[in-house]
Amino acid sequence: MSAPVLLPGATLGVMGGGQLGRMFVHAAQVLGYRTVVLEPDATSPAGLVAHQHVATGYTDAAGLAELASVCDAVTTEFENVPADSLRTLAERLPVAPAAAAVEICQDRAAEKRHFQRAGVPCAPFATIEAEADLAGAAGLLPGILKTARLGYDGKGQVSVSTPAELAAAWQRLGRAACVLEKRLPLALELSVIVARGRDGTIVSLPLQQNLHRDGILAVTQVPAPEVTPALAAEAVGCAGRLAASMDYVGVLCVEFFVLADGSLVANEMAPRPHNSGHYSLDACDVSQFELQLRTLAGLPLVAPRLHSAAVMLNLLGDLWFPGDATLPRTPDWGGVLALPGVALHLYGKTEARRGRKMGHLTVTAPDAASARTTALEVCRLLG
Ligand code: ADP
Ligand code: MG
Repeated sequence: MSAPVLLPGATLGVMGGGQLGRMFVHAAQVLGYRTVVLEPDATSPAGLVAHQHVATGYTDAAGLAELASVCDAVTTEFENVPADSLRTLAERLPVAPAAAAVEICQDRAAEKRHFQRAGVPCAPFATIEAEADLAGAAGLLPGILKTARLGYDGKGQVSVSTPAELAAAWQRLGRAACVLEKRLPLALELSVIVARGRDGTIVSLPLQQNLHRDGILAVTQVPAPEVTPALAAEAVGCAGRLAASMDYVGVLCVEFFVLADGSLVANEMAPRPHNSGHYSLDACDVSQFELQLRTLAGLPLVAPRLHSAAVMLNLLGDLWFPGDATLPRTPDWGGVLALPGVALHLYGKTEARRGRKMGHLTVTAPDAASARTTALEVCRLLG
């Protein structure tokens, strides 16, 4: 792309109005950019803080035309923005990441084929698109059946052990295109966030170790306590290769499993900043959102430096419903903020619901043990 470098003062657009868009908007505003969000929801986290909100659907021709006319470049904050909308925008202005890369990340089967193309190991899998595919996939059991498209936070996934369970689960998922993955013995989970610039420069955030609960990210620790330098280098190398082989421009997150035998397996990619990278706002000198901004604007990329140990805790709507409470209660933020090194981020969502990501909190400290101690204290206070 021979697009001009966009300096502060330029206008940057985001497709999508969720918390990732909100944090991108904040990062862009810190550097003096104007921001525009396209998002149908009138009270979205990002729409509420952007300079301008185009309140239409992601495929609305008039909305896309308006976004293109007021922006100098556009990025996306979630992977399910229709790739054709990104293509339409790209006819008029720079768009990063590009539609083709986002399209790969939207489909688990395409994503796994990309892992294989780039020589990155992934779980043994089969695609299930018709009744006839079920029998051939039975050799992968016990496994996890996942819808190929639109799954997130463990939604659209069923654990299956027998051919009968597999057939029933596929029915339950509406006979949608799926992948069946072999269930792997996980020792731990980690993720790598890389940013790749227009000129092919790649930088990465320090690698994250992640703990999921019920399919949703719960805790991220950096430095990753159980990851050896050799394994970290391997994961960062894989993520860079995956980005380069898509000619990717933007921030890319790759989630990995470390298996019981110590081997590394890629799980999935996100063509945007990621929940596991939120700690970078408080523990690094350059955050994942500033990296997104720099790649979009064509600014130089410098490797982020971790200046504090960090523990990031996701704040789900469940915290608003302690015990069997039916009416929401505001958690004890006062108590939490009295602890050292706590950075509280709430996304401005108007309604708390169980399982909904309402915010996150990062504890930073000079060393990992202190960060963990404070994080445990936070958990005790929030119940
Ligand atoms: P989502 O898009 O919902 O994040 P993932 O594919 O990342 O879906 O799965 C969510 C979680 O489920 C993973 O972080 C991991 O804990 C578990 N999981 C997914 N696939 C496997 C697998 N093949 N073997 C074992 N655990 C898995
Ligand atoms: Mg995941």
